[in-house]
Amino acid sequence: MAFKERTLKTEAVVLRHNDWGEADRLLWLYTLQSGKLRANAKGVRKPRSRKAGHLEPFTQVSLLLASGRDMWIVTQAETVNAFLPLREDLLRVGYASYVVELLDRFSYEEGENRAIYHLLVDTLGRLSRETDPILAVRYYEIRLLDYLGFRPQLFQCASCGAEIKPENQYFSALQGGVLCPACGANVPGAWPISVTALKYLRHFQRSNYAEAARARLSPEINRELETLMQQYLTYLLERGLNSPSFLRRVRKEASEHQAAPQEEA
Ligand SMILES: [Zn+2]
Repeated sequence: MAFKERTLKTEAVVLRHNDWGEADRLLWLYTLQSGKLRANAKGVRKPRSRKAGHLEPFTQVSLLLASGRDMWIVTQAETVNAFLPLREDLLRVGYASYVVELLDRFSYEEGENRAIYHLLVDTLGRLSRETDPILAVRYYEIRLLDYLGFRPQLFQCASCGAEIKPENQYFSALQGGVLCPACGANVPGAWPISVTALKYLRHFQRSNYAEAARARLSPEINRELETLMQQYLTYLLERGLNSPSFLRRVRKEASEHQAAPQEEA
């Protein structure tokens, strides 16, 4: 790996880490300035390491990195936000793990994406703050799909282009969106989506979080949305649609053709 710069000062979120060598730890980071990258936290497993407490998963941290032979090396680390409430509640830990894993699996070391960084930090904040954090998770999924270039088509039939009417429809992962009843019945692998679930998806897609958070999801609708998202995300990952070259292409197209909605500050 060739480095253009010898040091990098950046904010980052720690996605995950692995023990490395005798006392080191390999970190996967999502950084503000350079997107996802890998760094070695040397000596961090020694009992007296001063960096250790700042480099746990889900921590937002201010870092100084130096270019090593084949990887960045952490030279300074200071916690910006540890999102402590996240760590005191198993359900919140579970949501945070899901949020981080989703980003981890869909992203490569491909450079800056500030919208994704801010979405991640905002979402971790919401997960530690909200009484019921589930809306923050559902909102994150739909917004992340936007920023990754997989925004599902929810307003016109993804097959025939007809405007979607307020009735029960189908959803097709293959076609990347909602299908009208006439098309959906004939497309293999399309599954039903209720008019109510579709209404929420559209609302999340069009709204910032403050607006989206006013929604009240019933347990049934939440289950339906969760299943639908899992099917769509699994399809995207299993089809290898997350390969780096494919992602670069769709993201480039997405950034040229769509202005993504603004997150609130
Ligand atoms: Zn149709």
